[in-house]
Amino acid sequence: MSGVAERLAAVETAIAAAATRHGRRADAVRLVAVSKRQPAAAINEAWAAGQRRFGENYLQEALDKQDELAALDVEWHFIGAIQGNKTAAIAARFDWVHTVDRARIATRLNDQRPAGRPPLKVLLQVNISDEASKSGVLPADLPALVEHVRALPRLDLRGLMALPAPTVDPAAQRRAFAAVAALARACGPGLDELSIGTSDDFDAAIAEGATLVRLGTAVFGPRPAAA
Ligand SMILES: *Cc1c(COP(=O)(O)O)cnc(C)c1O
Repeated sequence: MSGVAERLAAVETAIAAAATRHGRRADAVRLVAVSKRQPAAAINEAWAAGQRRFGENYLQEALDKQDELAALDVEWHFIGAIQGNKTAAIAARFDWVHTVDRARIATRLNDQRPAGRPPLKVLLQVNISDEASKSGVLPADLPALVEHVRALPRLDLRGLMALPAPTVDPAAQRRAFAAVAALARACGPGLDELSIGTSDDFDAAIAEGATLVRLGTAVFGPRPAAA
């Protein structure tokens, strides 16, 4: 394992430069290093270089790495699809969940958040441009889901997340992210966090108000193939 510290430094520079270019404060944009399919050693290397926020997609893989890295003060973000039978472990072992997209999952996370921990920070995943994707609440159904989650005391609703259909056209990237930002504003106060932008489109996401960018390959290099 090598090169993570160097890539991380370059990523941080690029995020700060994008923020400045788009008239935003550099510290308004936080990096979630997406470590799915990367070994614990890679997370350890990024942690040693100062990174504290890590995003994981696959629950069992994440739990194994959390056990291995239990001595580190990591802020764990769950960014994968959520199955109903996995909510207890997600509620117990993560600090943030970006991918809440239905009321039943929200209720389970609320009921299963351990009493000794602060309310679970959640983002609602919206499906804005990828009609084929089953992930994400449709914009028309978002207000009802917001209302449902706001009433759950063990969840702390912080904002919206989206993973738009990939495109290399920067204008199209910005249109998709702008739509997410507009939805967050329409939901009223308190939805201040926008988890938008990956390694390929974080400049457009930062232009449109990203507060959390989820970068995997830019930090860790290419992912190993799925096992
Ligand atoms: C894998 C993944 C990312 C990171 O993608 P990169 O292209 O490696 O930056 C971001 N968000 C989600 C939801 C992902 O699954």
